[in-house]
Amino acid sequence: MKCSRCKKTAQVALPSHHAGFCPECFNEFFSRQVERAIRHFRMFTRNDRVLVALSGGKDSLALFRELHVQGYNVTGLHIDLAINGSSPHARQMVERFCEGLGAPLRVVSMAEEGLSITEVKHKVKRPICSVCGKVKRYYFNKVALDEGFTALCTGHNLDDEVGRLLANTLRWDVSYLSDQSPALPASGGFAPKYRPLYRLSEFETAAYCFFNGIEHSTAVCPYSAGASFPVRKELLNTLEEHSPGSKLSFYETFLKNAKALFEAAEKRDGDSLAPCTSCGYPTSAGVCNICRLKEQLRD
Ligand code: SF4
Ligand code: ZN
Repeated sequence: MKCSRCKKTAQVALPSHHAGFCPECFNEFFSRQVERAIRHFRMFTRNDRVLVALSGGKDSLALFRELHVQGYNVTGLHIDLAINGSSPHARQMVERFCEGLGAPLRVVSMAEEGLSITEVKHKVKRPICSVCGKVKRYYFNKVALDEGFTALCTGHNLDDEVGRLLANTLRWDVSYLSDQSPALPASGGFAPKYRPLYRLSEFETAAYCFFNGIEHSTAVCPYSAGASFPVRKELLNTLEEHSPGSKLSFYETFLKNAKALFEAAEKRDGDSLAPCTSCGYPTSAGVCNICRLKEQLRD
């Protein structure tokens, strides 16, 4: 197969784009997809201070490198979850990566915050991934607002977005469907959040890491076994194999034709949020989930 741009030998085939690319042209393709996402949703400009959440996995590192190469003012944020078995490796990868790029990095340690996820797992009888997700989102938002960043980015890719859309649709979760977008503007205590990789699949970010020699953490979280998202991802992969391009089309059609309807329904029925009486984070429950969790762990 020949590269669709320069006609050299292609090293990666992308059936959903009816294209194949050599490594250099694949990088061009990847950059264009990121630029297109940023421009379409007016996410941020080169004058913004952009905070990028770095887990140590391939997607967030690929995003950070690409934004850095494109000349954006990026700072990495790593939340060290203090999970025995996977966190030390992830943190090491992120530190080494940012050092290699000469880019700034903030690390927030959950052990120091009294919220070690391993401790939460043993002491709190709630699904750990749901608690862990809330903890991460809380600290992403806190660092972005406290330290004056004007954009907060995560490395969610097309597979993540479509998997979440399918899960929300299967439950017809109006609140989550109204909120699902690659770009959420700042609102009452929330920093503006962006997902510039939403047009790129997991396979494409993996190829980008491979072609650009990005070493990423492969340590598997010991609590990931019960997660249901791999089943949905597999279902969607089967669909994509039979009909290339269906993931992107499902997501873009949702954004274009359906999201506004869920937003209108949510405005009618949604809970109103107010600042947490203890830390100021938006909540519908007086004291936010994270302050209550900290209290529970202290007891
Ligand atoms: Fe957190 Fe669950 Fe991911 Fe582990 S698998 S890092 S507990 S969200
Ligand atoms: Zn709080």
